Amino acid sequence: MPTPQTSPAPLSPERPGGEFALIDWIRRQAGPHPRLEVGIGDDAASVSWPDTDSTLIAVDMLVEGVHFTCPEATPEQVGRKSLAVNLSDIAAMAGRPIAAVVSVALPPSWHGEPAQRLHSGLAALARETGVALAGGDTTSTDGPLVISVTVIGESPSGGPVLRSGAQPGDRILVTGRLGGSLDGHHLDFTPRIAEAVSLLESGGLHAMIDISDGLATDLHHLLQASGVGARLSATDVPLNHLTERTRDGRTRLAHAIADGEDFELLATVTPDIAARLIADPPFETPLTDIGQITQDSGLDMLMPDGRVVPLPPLGFEHEVG
Ligand code: ADP
Ligand code: MG
Repeated sequence: MPTPQTSPAPLSPERPGGEFALIDWIRRQAGPHPRLEVGIGDDAASVSWPDTDSTLIAVDMLVEGVHFTCPEATPEQVGRKSLAVNLSDIAAMAGRPIAAVVSVALPPSWHGEPAQRLHSGLAALARETGVALAGGDTTSTDGPLVISVTVIGESPSGGPVLRSGAQPGDRILVTGRLGGSLDGHHLDFTPRIAEAVSLLESGGLHAMIDISDGLATDLHHLLQASGVGARLSATDVPLNHLTERTRDGRTRLAHAIADGEDFELLATVTPDIAARLIADPPFETPLTDIGQITQDSGLDMLMPDGRVVPLPPLGFEHEVG
């Protein structure tokens, strides 16, 4: 699209540091990709698409002041996170990400070097994960920075894995360790792409979601979609070491249950295959059995002292004291 001449500070397309210079710089940074037939520089990208059962599409938008603040987040971290949240959504379906497009609205303070650093962070993660940076759109704004990334992926056979497939008796497995995202984890997490495909290949994966709103909330989403309930075991919830330092009076368990933006996978797996996965994990990322899917609706948690307490979507500070 042509850049509208908005006041007070249009991103003059032609000037050094303007839109065209930035796009040209981005184009030179973006390497080739085996699936990318036409990349940045034409009116649309072309991606080759061998026979595949289903195509996955995910989009997420980040707004400065809402999803990140600067200077707490570096421009590289903002770019990285804008792609990473989408890769986590593709992983949650047990998909493989293939290509990404990025739209940015840059306020004046982001013109020039910060915009390049933002794209560097995004491009580095694209390279690490084998995702083709296929194109985007760049414009200016007098509002906050807005960045929206769309990722297109494919589903290996047996997928996609939905939130709605959990069955009574399934074990509930979680990758990584939970809590403390605001202590920095939300800016440097690793989307669990390979782990998700491994879980699919185990043959016992019934349902999956990535934890973006917190364990309790996202498990509620999965239970609601599946029409089942669950009981978690408090002593088994893996706690992030970041929460050791938290001094806000809340327990580490409360953080693990209610903090958002863990971007770990929450999966339900048949009991026999879950036991095999826990005994002999197919990847190095921690994998923990934290409970069981039940026939009865509702979510509760077995506490270390033997009490069973209800677990509402927003966590349970009051019940555990
Ligand atoms: P058009 O006006 O035809 O939409 P643009 O000038 O918006 O073309 O974009 C030119 C090329 O640069 C396109 O290939 C587009 O996908 C790519 N592009 C624009 N902005 C970005 C960006 N922020 N990141 C990656 N590619 C971009
Ligand atoms: Mg365009």
